[in-house]
Amino acid sequence: DDAVLWLLGDQLNPDLDALDDADRVLLIEAHGFADRKPYHAHKLTLVFSSMRHFRDALRDRGRDVTYVKAESFGEGLDAFFDDEFDGAPADADLRLMRPASHGAGDRLRDLVAERGGSLELLDNELFWTTPADWREWAGGPDGEAPEPIVGADGSADRRYRQENWYRHVRRETGVLMEGDEPVGGEWNYDDLNRETPPDGWEPPERPRFEPDDLTRETHAWVRERFDTWGTDSLAGFAWPVTRAEAREALDAFVRDRLPSFGRYEDAMVEGEPFLSHSLLSPAINLGLLDPREPVRAVEAAYAERGVEPGAYDPTGDDAGGTDRSPVPLNAAEGFVRQVIGWREFTRHVYREAMPALASANQLDQSRPLPPAYWDGDTEMRCLSEAVGHVREYGYAHHIERLMVLSNVALLYGTDPAELNEWFHLGFVDAYHWVTTPNVVAMGSFGTDVLSSKPYAASGSYVNRMSDYCASCPYAVSRTTGEGACPLNALYWDFLAEKEEALRGTGRMGLMYSHLDDKDESELTTIRERAVAVREMAASGEL
Ligand code: FAD
Repeated sequence: DDAVLWLLGDQLNPDLDALDDADRVLLIEAHGFADRKPYHAHKLTLVFSSMRHFRDALRDRGRDVTYVKAESFGEGLDAFFDDEFDGAPADADLRLMRPASHGAGDRLRDLVAERGGSLELLDNELFWTTPADWREWAGGPDGEAPEPIVGADGSADRRYRQENWYRHVRRETGVLMEGDEPVGGEWNYDDLNRETPPDGWEPPERPRFEPDDLTRETHAWVRERFDTWGTDSLAGFAWPVTRAEAREALDAFVRDRLPSFGRYEDAMVEGEPFLSHSLLSPAINLGLLDPREPVRAVEAAYAERGVEPGAYDPTGDDAGGTDRSPVPLNAAEGFVRQVIGWREFTRHVYREAMPALASANQLDQSRPLPPAYWDGDTEMRCLSEAVGHVREYGYAHHIERLMVLSNVALLYGTDPAELNEWFHLGFVDAYHWVTTPNVVAMGSFGTDVLSSKPYAASGSYVNRMSDYCASCPYAVSRTTGEGACPLNALYWDFLAEKEEALRGTGRMGLMYSHLDDKDESELTTIRERAVAVREMAASGEL
């Protein structure tokens, strides 16, 4: 019988080894999930258009592809078995790369089994490291799989450290290594990656992949078929939807943006949603790029054009983003860490910590998300900018995600699961495996499985890393009284309110010593301001 490889919408890579052993390919475009919630129109367009382009690209390569449009995977399978196997699923030798989403492999295997067929689950090639690699690192000398690690209350019985994992993977893969030593002598150059650009600095232009007819058609259908969120226009949509475009996007990043990637990685600039970020997550998460490719490309660029950490000034005379621009080590290392450190790490933490991770809520936060997250309507510049970027592009860079969108929600007291859903619906690169550890664990501190303290910050952090506060009607210098930056009172009030859970946790001592310096009456006015801010936020008047 024919070997059929079923590929999911985030497995769109024509160079998979699994394709070598397949006689034919099945793609099921299931629509029902998007009826239930308002996804960003660009996200649905990106996924469906990429699937349709992938179908055509495989057929151009002479592949036998069955492409089914259905409400659900179950209905899609019915149609496939009826049309292609005369209603005899047992004749199909069906395989699937293990999905990244928790439980999805078993669920899909059950769907096939209920119909009388069988589904073989293969390793997912689209991650660099395997569950076995993780166990070898995490499981100690006996290689035992760690037990479930997140309890019902969200507290973890063990904590994983990204930095240790990252070094381990560098050693195992040899990326940016000289023998056993990291290139340059240090593992991490993050201290050089916290600058903000001077006024008037213009980031390298974002590579644009103009929507073709198929993408436009898909977008028109998405808008008609679903209730979507975010912009109705396709004007800002410039994501790669094919493997060829994704490769071009990678080349453009390495050529133009990598030199300034590190230095301004944490900066936020009004009107500049993209800065020097790679913008590659949508393509990597769809499978259009294998994560090894950007890492190896950056390593190669460093080998060719590399200079000492910090030795390239993106605002200097030699700047301008050309293929001759030097690549400072802090940029190359910073990028590599995001992918083989953070990306692989969050994927494994997700695998280990699900299903408890999705509902982890150790701080007992239960407020619904303020309406400003949906309509972008707020006077707070940081929040209106960040939400505006999401509405317009389905994208915001990592500091906006962590230190604005998550931080505001954390200090406000939002239910982590609700925030997770918001990210999942609104971002073009969002999948359950990647939002859940980032939003619930890192952003909301719903569990301490991957960090020892919350990423909580007052307005002064935003002021240091952005130019938003200068044009914000709220005063970042003030904590209390009308017109004071909402983040300030929320920050102190959050620390006071969550004292029991947080005071004893790692590295919170300094923050609590500042809180301890405040006297009763100051704490009372902070509390009053925080209550007022929360009321304004809840009623859409922030
Ligand atoms: P760059 O800054 O250029 O980074 C390079 C690459 O590193 C990214 O493309 C991505 O593949 C990887 N990466 C970096 N950090 C992480 C991380 N923490 N987890 C996983 N991969 C990482 N990433 C997603 O892909 N999808 C999401 O839905 C998502 N939601 C997030 C939500 C929150 C609250 C936070 C704090 C982070 C989230 N991230 C998510 C991680 C990160 O913010 C994005 O990967 C990054 O902003 C994507 O833009 P870029 O490609 O320009 O990234």
